[in-house]
Parts: sequence; C-alpha cells; structure tokens
Amino acid sequence: MDKKIKYLSTVVAFVGAISIANANEGNHNTKHWGYLGDSSPAHWGEIDSKFKMCGEGKQQSPIDIVSAKDANLTPLKLDYKVGSKSIINNGHSIQVNIKDGNSLTLDGKVYKLKQFHFHVPSENNIHGDKFPLEAHFVHVSDDGKIAVIGVMFEEGKENPILKRICNHLSHLDKGTKERCGLSAEDIKSIMPKDGDNYYRFKGSLTTPPCSEGVDWIVYKKPLNVSKEQVNAFFNTFSFPNNRPVQPANGRAIEE
Ligand SMILES: [Zn+2]
Repeated sequence: MDKKIKYLSTVVAFVGAISIANANEGNHNTKHWGYLGDSSPAHWGEIDSKFKMCGEGKQQSPIDIVSAKDANLTPLKLDYKVGSKSIINNGHSIQVNIKDGNSLTLDGKVYKLKQFHFHVPSENNIHGDKFPLEAHFVHVSDDGKIAVIGVMFEEGKENPILKRICNHLSHLDKGTKERCGLSAEDIKSIMPKDGDNYYRFKGSLTTPPCSEGVDWIVYKKPLNVSKEQVNAFFNTFSFPNNRPVQPANGRAIEE
C-alpha cells in the first residue's frame, strides 16, 4: 500500500500546482467540463442543464466497493473477435476505438464493445484502495443501454500491450487521432483471465452527462503496469482524470 500512498501524495501535490496555474488562465468556456478548477467534477452538475444528473443523481459512479453480496455470478460472456481501429486523445482521456464485432452478453442482452479508455488514478476504489490506473471497456446495446467493464492496474512489471498504447502517448496531442492496430487477443490480454471474479452493480457514466442505468462490472484482480507507464499516461494530461467516488446510497453490489 505504501507505493500507492506515495504515488497519490505526488499526484495531490501536482494537482495543487496545476489548479493555481489553471485559475490564472481565466474562464473563457463555462460549458466545458474537466478535472480542474471551475470545470472540475464538483461543478459538473451546474455547468450545463444536460449535466444535472452529475449533481442530483442517486446512483452515480464511481464508488468505493466496500461490501458485496455473494450472488454466484457466472463467468462473463465476452466474444471479442476484432481489433482496434484508432487511438484518440479526446482531452479527457486516452481512448482506443474498436471495430464492430466484439460483444458482451449480460442477462441475455448483447452489448457491443465500442471503445476502451483510461483513468489515472483509478475511479472506482476497492475496499478503500485506489489503483494507479483503471481501464473502462464501454459496451452499448442496440437500444442504447450501456455496460462498462472496469479493469484495475497495480504497479509492477511493464505491461506489453499498454506499452504499445504508451508508444502513441508522447505525440498524441489533444484532439488528435492515430491508427492503432491492436488485435482481439491484445484487447483480451488487458482483461484478467478469471472471468467470474468480478463485482457487479448499477451506476452511471463517470463523465458528463453522468447518465444513470449503466451496468458496471469491475474485475477484482488487478493487472500489472509499470511506474513509467503510469507516468506516461499521467503526463499526457498532467492532471488526474478521475471523478471522485460518489455515495453508494445503499446500492446492491454483487460478487
Ligand atoms: Zn471511464
């Protein structure tokens, strides 16, 4: 745990410095949401009426997963056959867009994998612990329902797939997009192998408009990422892109 705490205190010190720098830039775009100053998560609900769930919602994400009920969850039905098409810096996250053809089946409903993206540090916490990096695999059904799979990364060995993503980071400026040729196997390898070892709960998008009704799945087992790789993600934005944990409000969490 020491490493995590040390990492976070560095991040907190960094944010302090950045917030001051940002405040000095002025506030020319009030509709824009972000992670710093007047556009930070605490203000999202006021920035735009379309974002009001960010302030008023009762099943918001992320959460701290503290206690879960044993629900005999079955292994996740993932059918990933195709790879990625591009990688983009959208100003809020690094996102890998996926070709059509990968699906998650949940309670008999099919959700198509659209993209995955990263948060530094993690958004969801597990038993009060934050991780240096969390990936979100965003799946959408034909009728617009959303299911997100969260994967935690802990500091350890270099991750070979993240290395290929990291190779793009230094020249991926805000708003730019590049080709990114990850295969279906590559994508599967940044998910834990034990597909029945996860938490499940209801929540929201963790970015505006913070829409609720999102099915959340968070794998319990973290994968490895090196400190250098975490720094490469962090330095792309130079601020943490995680929304703070939201009240669970008695929400059922299954495991
Ligand atoms: Zn996310």
